[in-house]
Amino acid sequence: MQIYKVGGAVRDRLLGKPVTDIDWVVVGATTEEMLAKGFRPVGADFPVFLHPKSGEEYALARTERKSGRGYGGFTFHASTEVTLEEDLIRRDLTINAMAEDDQQNLTDPYDGQRDLEARLLRHVSPAFAEDPLRVLRVARFAARYAGLGFTVAPETLELMRQLSESGELEALTAERSWKEISRALMEDQPQVFIEVLRECGALKVLMPEVDALFGVPQPEAHHPEIDTGVHTLSVLEQAAQHKQSLTVRWACLLHDLGKGLTPEEEWPRHIAHEHKGLKLIKAVNERFKAPKDCQELALLVGEYHTHGHRALELKPSTLLELLQSFDVYRRPQRFEEFIAACEMDARGRKGLEQRSYPQADYLRGAANAARTVAVQPLLEKGFKGPELGEAIKRERLKALKAYKEKA
Ligand code: ATP
Ligand code: MG
Repeated sequence: MQIYKVGGAVRDRLLGKPVTDIDWVVVGATTEEMLAKGFRPVGADFPVFLHPKSGEEYALARTERKSGRGYGGFTFHASTEVTLEEDLIRRDLTINAMAEDDQQNLTDPYDGQRDLEARLLRHVSPAFAEDPLRVLRVARFAARYAGLGFTVAPETLELMRQLSESGELEALTAERSWKEISRALMEDQPQVFIEVLRECGALKVLMPEVDALFGVPQPEAHHPEIDTGVHTLSVLEQAAQHKQSLTVRWACLLHDLGKGLTPEEEWPRHIAHEHKGLKLIKAVNERFKAPKDCQELALLVGEYHTHGHRALELKPSTLLELLQSFDVYRRPQRFEEFIAACEMDARGRKGLEQRSYPQADYLRGAANAARTVAVQPLLEKGFKGPELGEAIKRERLKALKAYKEKA
C-alpha cells in the first residue's frame, strides 16, 4: 500500500500556511489490511480509518458516483484498483486535489499548483455539481483565502449558479450546512462567504432573509453606506477584525433582518424593525439548527441592538428592563457578547469604523451598578418570595438612577 498526504495539508504547505489537521489517502490497501495494522474504522458509509496513534484520518482511495439526491445519494467504490488520480478527481477544488508522498513528491494531475499561483478556486471536474455542499465549501475557502487574493474561477461560479438554481441546495441537511456556515463565519473575511453565496444565487436559497437586505436603503445620516446588505457585510467584517466569537458573528449577520420587511413607502426608515425581525431570525436559527447560544444571542441582539446604541439616553427603568432581559446577574458573558455585537453594528458603517463606542463602557457600568445591589440586607428586613423580587428590582433601579446621574 502507498500512503499520501492529501487535501488541505498539501495546499496549506504550498501556501506557506500552518497545517493543523492532516488527511491521508491510502492506495492499494483493503479494509482487512488496515484493520490488521490497528487502524480503527469510522463511519459506516466510507472506508475511512483513524490511525491507532495519531488519530489522523486515513481514507482508502475511492471513486464516487451520484445515485440520488442529497448526500445519501452517493455510491462509493473503494478497491485496491482505485488509483491516486481517480481518487483526486472526485475532490472539490484543484488546490485541494493534490497529494504528496513521504518524500514530498507532489502528484498534481489537475493543475492545483497552477491555480494556487493564479489564486483561483477552480473545480476539478463537472462531478463538482454532484454535491451541493461544495457551493458552501467554495464560498468558505473564498472567505479564508480572500486576504491572499483568491477568487472563484468564473466557470466554477457558473456551476455554483446552476447548482443553486437546480434546487439541489435544499437537499442539504441542517447539520452539514451549519458546519460550513459556522466555519466560514470564523474565517478572516466572513463577509466574503456571504458575498460569494449571493453572487451565485445560493444566498437566496439558503438565507433569503439575508439576501433580501440588499437593495434596501437606510437613512444616510446614520448609515453613509445606505444599503442594508452592504451594512450587514461590514458588520461581519468588523466582527472578524475584532476577533469576535461565533455567537457574536452569527448575531451580527442576523441583527437587521427586520429591515427586509419594511414596506417600500416607509424607506429609508425602518420602524420597529427590531421586533419585526424576530420571526425571521427564529426561522434562520431553526433552519440550520444553530447551537442554543447562537440562537439566543441572535434573538436578543435583534430585539435590543438599538437599545444598545441609545444606551446613554435610556431611562433608568428601561436600562433595568434591558439588564433583566439579559439576566445579566447570572449570564454576564452573554451581556458582554451583546455589547460586542452592538459595537460591531456601530462600526460596520461606512467611514465610521474607527469611531469610539462609549455605549459599551456605559452598559458595562450599568450592569455593574445593578449587580452591586446586595440581597442579604433585604432578606434581613424580612422580604420573601415575590416581594423580595420587587424589593431587589427597586434597589437596582435606585442604583441605576444614581449611576446615570454620575455618568
Ligand atoms: P480544512 O483546512 O478546512 O480542513 P481541507 O481542504 O483539509 O480544509 P477537509 O474538509 O478536511 O478540507 O477535507 C479534506 C479534503 O477532502 C479536501 O481538501 C477535499 O479534497 C476533499 N473534500 C472534503 N469534502 C469534500 C466534498 N464535499 N466534496 C469534494 N471533496 C471534498
Ligand atoms: Mg482538512
